Amino acid sequence: MTPTDAAPDLPAALARHRVPPAPRYRDDACGRPGAAPRAVLAPRSAGDCAEILAHLGAHGLACVVQGGRTGLSGGARVAPGEIVVSTERLDAPARIDPLAATLTAGAGVTLAAAQAAAGEAGLFLAADLGARGSATLGGMAATNAGGPLALRFGTFRHQILGLEGVLADGTIVRRLGGMMKDNSGYDLGQLLIGSEGTLGIVTALVLRLHPAPAARRVALCALADVGAALALLALLRAGLGPALQACELILEPLLGATCRSQRLAPPFAAPAGAALLVEVAETGPGAAGVRLEEMLAGALGDGLIRDAVLSASEADCRRLWALREGCSHHLMQLGGTTGLDIALPLAAIPPFLAAAAAFLGEGAGPLVFGHLGDGNLHFVLPGRHGPATLAPLFTILARHGGVITAEHGVGLDKVAYLPLCRGAEELSAMARLKAAFDPGWILNPGRVVPAPGGTPRGR
Ligand SMILES: Cc1cc2nc3c(=O)[nH]c(=O)nc-3n(C[C@H](O)[C@H](O)[C@H](O)COP(=O)(O)OP(=O)(O)OC[C@H]3O[C@@H](n4cnc5c(N)ncnc54)[C@H](O)[C@@H]3O)c2cc1C
Repeated sequence: MTPTDAAPDLPAALARHRVPPAPRYRDDACGRPGAAPRAVLAPRSAGDCAEILAHLGAHGLACVVQGGRTGLSGGARVAPGEIVVSTERLDAPARIDPLAATLTAGAGVTLAAAQAAAGEAGLFLAADLGARGSATLGGMAATNAGGPLALRFGTFRHQILGLEGVLADGTIVRRLGGMMKDNSGYDLGQLLIGSEGTLGIVTALVLRLHPAPAARRVALCALADVGAALALLALLRAGLGPALQACELILEPLLGATCRSQRLAPPFAAPAGAALLVEVAETGPGAAGVRLEEMLAGALGDGLIRDAVLSASEADCRRLWALREGCSHHLMQLGGTTGLDIALPLAAIPPFLAAAAAFLGEGAGPLVFGHLGDGNLHFVLPGRHGPATLAPLFTILARHGGVITAEHGVGLDKVAYLPLCRGAEELSAMARLKAAFDPGWILNPGRVVPAPGGTPRGR
């Protein structure tokens, strides 16, 4: 079958943007099968995107935007009748401005490529996540990605100094000057950040770079429980200030299971209820590594921590991070799970975990890890769960002041639960914003804001 046969009503003018609709375009990293796309279009520039969206709007055709498809909320999953707009050819390589300390790149460039370009210039891109080899800068902007470094540097939004995007009617908004200060009217780029492709397609970005860290040290601490991990976090924050770069929690039984499935050596002599991975880094000759060592010795003496492994080399740092990243790999291999990505005020984390355990009952065995410093937990339930479990669980979460997604976004999968953490007035304002930017409802319909009629509008 030729591409034209697969979508006979696709305007002929769009034929030059088409690529073969391989199965990989159906879903993101959630692993739930999406529909076969009506067509896959891969624009090479903002102008191409404008042409595509103008045609889709004119013909009432809905599309879903795809970057690296590493998303975990179903945002890039294809709904029946949708056309995929892939950013894979928006791959203008990263250009570094050493004076301004900025990086400019196409939205389809991967995080790993951008990190490498910054590193080659002796600078540092303060964003990281486990899917760095495939996740794109555009996808990270669209989801306002977090990751471990958000504790020190903020989310991806805080790394973006300029953005080029295309609105649903084909309007190109271009602010690629890379200026730190620009109050000349509404910041339209900031509206696109975190909008999960519902308000426009991000086509290029200017990112802020930082001085490269001279050295880092990583420690993995064994603790009795999450309460002790929070006490250690408070201690380290006060003692280390901005040198504290990451603070990652892993609760048992996930650490043990990860070590077994990923063939990693158990870090502690005796199992611990909780493990906290701590990273410190400084740009110049500093004493943060020594200070960390002293503070952990004090915490051991006081009985706050039970054991600790401290890096002595960069290879040690990588080995300790492999345990944390191994948690994601273990869960992916396990499959058939329901992963929640929640955030809570720090003080509410222990009571929430207790209330959730009481609700789920014996044997439910949630697997919990995440970015403790940001109050962001990945709370993973074995098995596939629907509203009968998730609605009451999210209600408990909301009662503890939590939100249903901290970094992965609402996508298709969490739209129904959004009213549990956002008020009716806020939801109505979001719907009005969506309608103003995309009156034809052609861009990522049904993600974040329910589509009119309740279902994604692929026709
Ligand atoms: C192993 C693993 C670890 C992860 N760790 C983290 C983590 O620590 N922190 C974190 O935040 N996330 C994490 N993620 C989730 C994921 O990597 C991020 O959400 C990432 O930002 C998605 O980028 P992507 O290019 O893959 O986007 P996709 O999955 O392709 O798309 C995600 C959403 O953004 C939209 N979109 C994509 N590109 C654009 C664009 N150019 N313009 C407009 N809309 C667009 C899509 O329509 C969709 O709604 C992890 C995922 C995996 C598999």
